[in-house]
Amino acid sequence: MSLVENLFLEPQSKRRKINPETIESPSPNCNHWFVRNKICISCYTTVDNFEGRSFDYLYKGMQMSNEALGFTKGLISQTSWLEDKKLHLVLDLDQTLIHTIKTSLLYESEKYIIEEVESRKDIKRFNTGFPEESLIKLRPFVHQFLKECNEMFSMYVYTKGGYDYARLVLEMIDPDKFYFGNRVITRRESPGFKTLDLVLADERGIVIVDDTSSVWPHDKKNLLQIARYKYFGDKSCLFSEDKKKIDESDEKGPLNTALRFLKDVHEEFFYDWSKKDLDSVDVRPLLKEISLRWKRKADGVV
Ligand SMILES: [Mg+2]
Ligand SMILES: [Zn+2]
Repeated sequence: MSLVENLFLEPQSKRRKINPETIESPSPNCNHWFVRNKICISCYTTVDNFEGRSFDYLYKGMQMSNEALGFTKGLISQTSWLEDKKLHLVLDLDQTLIHTIKTSLLYESEKYIIEEVESRKDIKRFNTGFPEESLIKLRPFVHQFLKECNEMFSMYVYTKGGYDYARLVLEMIDPDKFYFGNRVITRRESPGFKTLDLVLADERGIVIVDDTSSVWPHDKKNLLQIARYKYFGDKSCLFSEDKKKIDESDEKGPLNTALRFLKDVHEEFFYDWSKKDLDSVDVRPLLKEISLRWKRKADGVV
């Protein structure tokens, strides 16, 4: 059982029946840090007008006060650093790990792909429950990327897409919920911009991989922006053209590069670990430093 589950689920022996009508005045000493289905899990008071964040995507009905959130984020990250030597990784879906297109927007020369869907593992066709039939194409190297990242990070999906759509994609990349569990944040939980407030980990230990930077107005220091993945042409798009399909390579594509970058980040974060002070470690300056070093190398300066 994970640390978060331990925090949220009371042991069987402690559980007692709650009848909200029998509860009198709120407990004077309780700050109601964790509230589930409007009842504080510590003092059992019914809490209306709760100020804090909802973590429905992890545990149904769960809310946390801002104080509890800060505490939980810190606790989860420190446990993860100390026990598993893992940081946290937040992954976007569209044009980062996959490319999805409505079949009506395919060029004539691409329509043969629809016939190939049955025999291909990297493309899925879907229509039920969605307004239009579409194709999802996996980015080359995505399986290996997830497998290796999982050794170094606890992973989240964070997408502007809807919940049902995210589940379809996850059936292709994580059918057994091995990599992400319930750590999947969609438009349902996050209708506006993306924010690390919804990720249960200390910001000092989170790396984001996303093709779009503008959706992260407050967390750019955590962002590794990846080249946008576009497999299909798109006849609704002005700059797209009907040309022969060339997919990214496994060895030299952006996901492979991102993996090598993340390995550097992980290695340097935990380098000389026993000498480091837990209160001052921070992945953000490290991301900046490694980016600059990679850039200098690419420019031939080093
Ligand atoms: Mg995207
Ligand atoms: Zn309480």
